[in-house]
Amino acid sequence: MGRTIVVTAGKGGVGKTTVTANLGALLTKLGNKVVVVDMDIGLRNLDVVMGLENRVVYNIMDVSDGKCKINQALVRDKTLPGLFLLPASQIHTKKDINIDKIVEIISIIENSFDYILLDSPAGIEKGFESASAPAKEALIVVTPDVSSVRDADRVIGILENRGILAISLIVNRYDINLVNRKKMLNADSVVDILGLDLIGMIPEDKSVIESTNKGELLVNYANGSPANKAFENISRRIEGEDVPFLNFNSQRRGIFSLFRRR
Ligand code: ADP
Ligand code: MG
Repeated sequence: MGRTIVVTAGKGGVGKTTVTANLGALLTKLGNKVVVVDMDIGLRNLDVVMGLENRVVYNIMDVSDGKCKINQALVRDKTLPGLFLLPASQIHTKKDINIDKIVEIISIIENSFDYILLDSPAGIEKGFESASAPAKEALIVVTPDVSSVRDADRVIGILENRGILAISLIVNRYDINLVNRKKMLNADSVVDILGLDLIGMIPEDKSVIESTNKGELLVNYANGSPANKAFENISRRIEGEDVPFLNFNSQRRGIFSLFRRR
C-alpha cells in the first residue's frame, strides 16, 4: 500500500512542482515505484519540468470521465523506469473536478505504487481541495519570507482540520548569505512560526532553474549540485533514515579560512 503525500504551499512560485518532480526522482532512485500526479495547471507543469510533455496522451480528467484506463494515462519517465507521471488536463477547469472520483483513482493507484506525490495548485480553492483529499501526509513548501510563511500557516490549519496530521516542512530557496545579512528569515524562525517538523532545506541553486528550463530532472542535469543533495537527503528522511542536515555555513567558513591562511 503506497504512501500518498500532497506537496503544497500557501502560494505559487515557491517550488511545489520542483519538489514534486525531484523528490519523485530521488525516491525512485532509492528503489521505490513512484507516481507524481499533476493536480495543477500552472506555468511550469510537471510534464514540462520532467520533459515529458510530448508523451502525454491522456490525463487525470480523462480517467475521471471514464475516457481511458489509469494505465493509459500514466506516462513513464524517460530515464527512471520506476517513475511515472499522471498528467493534468489542459482544457478542464477546476470546477470540472469530481473530488470523489479523484480520491477513488488515487486509492486504486495506491495498490501498485510505493509513493504517490500530488502536486497541488496554489491557494485553498477546489484544486487544492482535490489534491489534498486523497492524501494521508503533506509536505509544505515555503520560501523563507514572511508572506510565504503566513500563507502556509493558513494551509496547515486547513490540512489539520481535514485530519492530515503528518505534515512536514521544506524550506526552499534558502540563501545563507541573505540569512546572515538578516535579509531572509532563518530556518529556525520558520519552524518556530509554523510549528512543524523540518524535513529539509533546499538551497537557492541556479542549477534548479536551468534544469527546469531544460525539462530535465536535477538528478540527471546536475547530480552533484547542492539542491540535488538536499533532495536526496529529504527522500532518505521520508524513507525514515536519520540523515544529518547540511551545514549551510560550512561553505562560508571555508572561504574565511582560506583568507586566514594567506
Ligand atoms: P510552484 O510549483 O510552487 O509554483 P515551481 O516549482 O514552479 O513553483 O518553481 C518556481 C520557479 O522557482 C521555477 O522557475 C524554479 O526553477 C525556481 N526554483 C524553485 N526552487 C528553486 C531553488 N531551490 N533554487 C533556484 N530556483 C528555484
Ligand atoms: Mg507548480
